[in-house]
Amino acid sequence: MEIVYHPHPALRKRAAPIEEIDQEVRQNAGKMVDLMFEGRGIGLAANQVAWLRRLIVICPTNERGGERVLINPRIVMSEGQEILEEGCLSFPQLFGKVSRALRIRYTYTTLEGETVEREAEGLEARVIQHEIDHLDGIVFTMRMTPADKLATRKAVKELERLYKER
Ligand code: ZN
Repeated sequence: MEIVYHPHPALRKRAAPIEEIDQEVRQNAGKMVDLMFEGRGIGLAANQVAWLRRLIVICPTNERGGERVLINPRIVMSEGQEILEEGCLSFPQLFGKVSRALRIRYTYTTLEGETVEREAEGLEARVIQHEIDHLDGIVFTMRMTPADKLATRKAVKELERLYKER
């Protein structure tokens, strides 16, 4: 398993719900947590490892032990708005401002099969919105402010050139 980069087709596909939490799901979730920390990221979606299932791992504290695995995550309420700079492990060295809801209420299933409903704000809310977007085939460059879309256009093209060469 490895992180795939833009414009890998898995990044533009909608991931399917996870019906059963089996050995494969547990193993892949563990590998994704490792890849997230190796990449110094605070979130990773299954699409980013070319696995098209609705699972994300997050660690807003960016420290081992603070990681969480969210299966079939869903936002049920969102409010407020904040524009902040984001990055993405599938777009190395690329950053841009994205508008996100400030507060969200969300549900997900844990690896133990428990359904949880929680509230988040600030960075945690932002990470979850960014990662759930991945599960829907939406990448953060699509949501960037017009100015940052323009400012990052060259860097995006460069990623596309590198991808073709691989
Ligand atoms: Zn991302």
